[in-house]
Amino acid sequence: MYEGAVQDLIDELGRLPGVGPKSAQRIAFHLLAAESADVGRLVAALQRVQAEVRFCVTCYNVAEAEQCRICRDPRRSDDVICVVEEPKDVVAIERTREFRGRYHVLGGAISPIEGVGPDDLRVKELMTRLMHGSVTELILATDPNLEGEATAAYLARLVRPLGLTVSRLASGLPVGGDLEYADEITLGRAFEGRRRIDA
Ligand SMILES: [Zn+2]
Repeated sequence: MYEGAVQDLIDELGRLPGVGPKSAQRIAFHLLAAESADVGRLVAALQRVQAEVRFCVTCYNVAEAEQCRICRDPRRSDDVICVVEEPKDVVAIERTREFRGRYHVLGGAISPIEGVGPDDLRVKELMTRLMHGSVTELILATDPNLEGEATAAYLARLVRPLGLTVSRLASGLPVGGDLEYADEITLGRAFEGRRRIDA
């Protein structure tokens, strides 16, 4: 649609997750109009992430050293591992400040439709950690969708012989939401995960 470089940029942006053709075009023209210093910072950030960021050798979170910041932190508990799908899930859980254990990033979820099986995820690596560490509890914090549920069920079965405490994050109702607008799956889960109020 456009000539050479502009179209190349739109094509590249359009390949990013969550960026449709319209957004790609909008971002491309934003960059065309931007100060060269701003574009330079973006280019530098992309190059740095390529050169410097890698995956933690222990938990597979993103890291700038051999181990990530969380695995290096001696104040965190080695007894609990929280299993998530992606590094962005680590960030989301860290933001709650509720969890002081370690993580394990699977790198996705089991999805027969997309041809993703347990061997495509860091399941073997998780088992090695569980068998050689001091872990007593496993929290399965995969996404509350079909793939995430299947992955959690698979892992729960797999680790059963190890005798760990295994839990799944409770699915609940969104804070500030309205009961009547919740879909039946969410509401059903919220019922299932109800807890006693200590009054
Ligand atoms: Zn780590």
